[in-house]
Amino acid sequence: MREWPLGGKVALVTGGSRGIGRAVCENLGYLGAKVIINYVSRLEEAEFTAKSIRSFSGRAEVLQFDVSDAEAVKVALDQVFHEDGQIDILVNNAGITQDGLLMRMKDSSWDAVIDTNLKGAFNCIRAVSPKMMKKRWGRIINISSVVGFSGHAGQINYSSAKAGLIGMTKSAALELASRGITVNAVAPGFIETDMTAGLSPELTADIMKKIPMDRMGKSEDVATAVSFLVSEAASYITGQCLHVNGGLYM
Ligand code: NDP
Repeated sequence: MREWPLGGKVALVTGGSRGIGRAVCENLGYLGAKVIINYVSRLEEAEFTAKSIRSFSGRAEVLQFDVSDAEAVKVALDQVFHEDGQIDILVNNAGITQDGLLMRMKDSSWDAVIDTNLKGAFNCIRAVSPKMMKKRWGRIINISSVVGFSGHAGQINYSSAKAGLIGMTKSAALELASRGITVNAVAPGFIETDMTAGLSPELTADIMKKIPMDRMGKSEDVATAVSFLVSEAASYITGQCLHVNGGLYM
């Protein structure tokens, strides 16, 4: 008989249409949560994630909004609260890159990456917290990155946002701990997704040389860490960052 450890829970995963977000959605759906799959532009990909979850009798819905738009986040999440009454698990996964050396970086690239990767997580945490606090149970996971710890030439906007997520995780954990809400981060290393598929063969080869486990990570490697952190087994862990990187520290 299948077990449903997250039965009765509602999980919102931002950027659930592809890559790491899709694997996180599938895992949470498999564990019994109803999964709200957020996307910004690729409806077909989001529908694919939903179909995958429904194929094993899980529950899933897609929900379009731009995480960087605070008003859009509020309207979308109010819709979820209206229909489902709650959001128990929030995974802030949506992210973009707009790489460039610092001296040549345009304001627009700085703003886009900070607004999506950092402010987007804040927008969602602020919108879900009141209901989670009332329920006295919640799990918030922020997807950071190895480069938030090591830095990375050509990614000053992205590494700043990912380092910022660690401070956000720790502050939110302190504010929400007494209400039964844990807030943790997961910092993936070099994971095989659309985001890394666009890198030059030279850069890919260079990063590969630095991975002690000698392989790129899979989205499932990251999703497994998220599943642990949202479980009851992790109920005394908060304000932490779990590194999923095969030993890679850029
Ligand atoms: P992908 O590029 O494969 O997918 C990005 C996802 O984010 C898509 O679902 C996309 O939606 C969504 N998204 C982008 N912008 C917005 C927005 N403004 N509002 C809502 N959703 C948005 O990325 P990955 O799966 O590789 O990365 C997922 C997370 O993991 C990111 O935060 C990334 O920074 C982080 N990470 C990834 C690593 C890697 O090696 N791949 C390493 C370390 C961290 P849509 O499909 O509609 O465009």
